[in-house]
Amino acid sequence: MNSQRIADIVAKHGLEKFRAKQISDAFFKKHVRSWSEVAGLSAAVKEKLNAEEPVLRLTEHKLLESSDKRTYKALLKLGDGRIVESVLMEPLPGHWTACISCQVGCAMACTFCATGRMGLLRNMDSEEISDQVLYWRQFIAARKMDVQLSNIVYMGMGEPFHNRRHVFDSIDELTNAEGFGIGSRHISVSTSGLVKGIEELADRHPQVNLAISLHAASDELRDRLMPVANKAHNLDDLAESMQAYLKKTNRKIFIEYILLDGDNDSQAHAEQLATWLNKIQAKHLLHVNLIVYNQTESAHRESSRERARAFLGALEHRGVSATIRKNLGRDIDGACGQLAVMDQK
Ligand code: SAH
Ligand code: SF4
Repeated sequence: MNSQRIADIVAKHGLEKFRAKQISDAFFKKHVRSWSEVAGLSAAVKEKLNAEEPVLRLTEHKLLESSDKRTYKALLKLGDGRIVESVLMEPLPGHWTACISCQVGCAMACTFCATGRMGLLRNMDSEEISDQVLYWRQFIAARKMDVQLSNIVYMGMGEPFHNRRHVFDSIDELTNAEGFGIGSRHISVSTSGLVKGIEELADRHPQVNLAISLHAASDELRDRLMPVANKAHNLDDLAESMQAYLKKTNRKIFIEYILLDGDNDSQAHAEQLATWLNKIQAKHLLHVNLIVYNQTESAHRESSRERARAFLGALEHRGVSATIRKNLGRDIDGACGQLAVMDQK
């Protein structure tokens, strides 16, 4: 459900115009799950809408809960039977984040990522993307969890800027004060470095947080780890685009760097990364998230704690702001990079 669809439904079913606000409040504020619970509609209209207008364009196929109850993963079935994954997690006590998908699979083929192994099956449309947020809001309301869904991250399956139109439309929906009403600063988009999207984000949603998946600071290594993304835009192009973004928005960029044992986690790699970052002006606006690798079907291995700490130390020594990111949801394959549904009918 989104504001466009509500407008279409009101027109198509001949409802009075003022109904749009009632319907929107019922779905986005009260999180009701069916038309029967929307106040003010006649029984006949409710019946017709229940039969013809599904509230969500996706249905729960499977739900997994981590043993610490701080991560839930849902497999959601789309209208054509394709399945995507969506994760709800609590990285900080009381602050829940939904990690949403924007494509079924991904074309970028990064070697460490389970989604990358699927290839791209199709783009999701804007309503399918924002419906994941509505699904999690309904989930929280139905379980009476008494928590707020504070943040939305586009870090599920897919490359957001390889599906720009629908992703930007979905951000418009999520930030629509009459609908989802989520503040831009509570939304983050992560990209493998597609520069057109970075530009468009600065123009259309300068307050939305940007994360860039870097993972290597030399083209030779990045070509290997992220073959499609880095061949499209090499590190020079990416640095230029980041520079323009910083100038336009004056907002922080989060640099994601997965530590892969023996591949990109040596002291020399840390130095290379620091040198690359330090060349960017306004480097005080850059923050590196060092990510612990979650095992997928690949030859990569997680760096040891010692190597991770030494890497962090080397960055800090060179004046780079960095932290090691916590991991949630590994026991249900709900952690970053573990999202994949191979058995797509
Ligand atoms: N396609 C976008 C967003 C989805 S991936 C992107 O690549 O940025 C979200 C984050 O998970 C990215 O930073 C990605 O690099 C990271 N990731 C992918 N595979 C991972 C793995 N196996 N372990 C840890 N993080 C992973
Ligand atoms: Fe796609 Fe991101 Fe996975 Fe790379 S890391 S394959 S861009 S989802």
